[in-house]
Amino acid sequence: MQANPIEPGFSSVATVSEVTREYLAKEHLLLINGEWVAGEQGDSIDTFDPATGEKIATVAIGHQADIDKAVAAANAAFISPWSKLSHFERAKYLSKLARLIEDHAETFTELEILDNGMPRFISALTIQNISEMFDYYAGAAQRIEGTTTNPPRHITEVAEALTYTVKEPVGVAGQIVPWNVPISTAVLKLAPALAAGCTVVVKPSEETPLSILLLGELIIEAGFPPGVVNIVNGYGYDAGQHLAEHPQVDKISFTGSTATGRKVIAAAMGNLKKVSLELGGKSPVVIMPDADLSLVVPGVAMATFFLQGQNCMAGTRIFIHESIHDECIEQIAAFARQFVIGHGLKPETFIGPLISKAHRDKVYGYIQKGIEEGATLVCGGNMLAGEGNFIEPTIFTNCTPDMAIVKEEIFGPVMAVQRFNTTDLDEIAAMANNTEYGLSGSVWTTNLSTAHSLVARIRAGQVSINCHGAIGTNIPFGGYGQSGWGREFGQEGLDAYLETKAVTARL
Ligand code: NAD
Repeated sequence: MQANPIEPGFSSVATVSEVTREYLAKEHLLLINGEWVAGEQGDSIDTFDPATGEKIATVAIGHQADIDKAVAAANAAFISPWSKLSHFERAKYLSKLARLIEDHAETFTELEILDNGMPRFISALTIQNISEMFDYYAGAAQRIEGTTTNPPRHITEVAEALTYTVKEPVGVAGQIVPWNVPISTAVLKLAPALAAGCTVVVKPSEETPLSILLLGELIIEAGFPPGVVNIVNGYGYDAGQHLAEHPQVDKISFTGSTATGRKVIAAAMGNLKKVSLELGGKSPVVIMPDADLSLVVPGVAMATFFLQGQNCMAGTRIFIHESIHDECIEQIAAFARQFVIGHGLKPETFIGPLISKAHRDKVYGYIQKGIEEGATLVCGGNMLAGEGNFIEPTIFTNCTPDMAIVKEEIFGPVMAVQRFNTTDLDEIAAMANNTEYGLSGSVWTTNLSTAHSLVARIRAGQVSINCHGAIGTNIPFGGYGQSGWGREFGQEGLDAYLETKAVTARL
């Protein structure tokens, strides 16, 4: 174990604003039908700062009866008024919410840091992204439109006819959110759902509910009709499972692990609700012999270590051509060693804590396994002593495809490097595709033909060239294989909340 650079208690970190402190001290309830209510059972859980272990807030939790109430409120609000509003009226609510988020950006930023542990530079970026997301879908709501097409022949043979399609909201959407980027994941589900005319029950992760509850306050302030957005914090096996099973929920959108995704599919089968899944990943990063190391070194280090590796897109299977392997590793390791590890509130922090002690121990277990399985530990590998859940950025080389650190999603700051000595793109792609996942990936080369030819062979929903994890509000994102079903972001993210109705009129 290494010494822990963190003082006990976030209170000792200078930069928490008074507004955030006041928010933390408040009573945090469930948002059902436009009102803050305690759950039916009146119980609550504490949430903790993962950098210090300090309790930061107490939050009410909901159970199945609370989900039932929230679903009933969402159904009532769907029938009227929400799905009846014009697209332009709905768009106004979304734009108003975007402005309110901007007004509260600093509180959101601090809450995400304290609840999740992410460094400030990431938190600030995600808050900027969520107001953009509401603006983007406010625009998209105004462009929801159908088509006209040719009527069926058996009708036109006997009469004039007109056929057109209209887009209608799916109905009530259940949205289950993970802890790794809590507010972003919630908003990239909420914004398109609301734009489409759906009403929503959100189930935040029990680990990180605070920023989503603050969003609930702004939803009330923006004047959304009661029941349009309901927020029920609670445990996955209880509130989450019940939401996924619920017969009055028309669609479930889930982001989380592949194992839980399977449970959500099974739960959704009762009423065959529509299902969108954003699941795990083990994304390949391929570094070709002609790659520009000045891009590779920071880019690949960030691909793995961004958000402490608690990132579904993390590039964790690194393939480096033999000819540049040693130089590349030396430079990436030197880069990783200079990352400042610390409390996310400190502006200089680059690597924050992992979400919980249990998760830290799991990640550390993988590091031990990597050593046992014969991978070479190049840097990192230590937990930091103390109450914070810190693990050093860790790099293993001489990895083989059968090792657990290569096959399984670790969701921590662990890079597993394999070397290759071929330039045959089919062989390289076969190595990259040797995974059950297919979420993200990247290719690093100065040869455009190599880049595009390799991208075409990689089986993943998002592949970047000379960068990694290039997400954006307008860019569809989702997985091949066991990384998920469907796409979020962009127009496809909106389509996921719309049904198409075909209408034929015999004139
Ligand atoms: P998780 O699957 O443990 O939990 C996710 C959410 O599901 C939480 O809100 C949890 O309470 C709930 N849940 C748990 N059991 C449930 C059940 N039986 N029924 C319904 N809901 C249930 O995942 P996590 O640990 O919170 O997040 C990490 C995982 O999420 C990683 O695998 C990561 O790759 C994945 N993830 C994927 C994306 C993506 O876009 N593909 C984005 C972020 C995270």
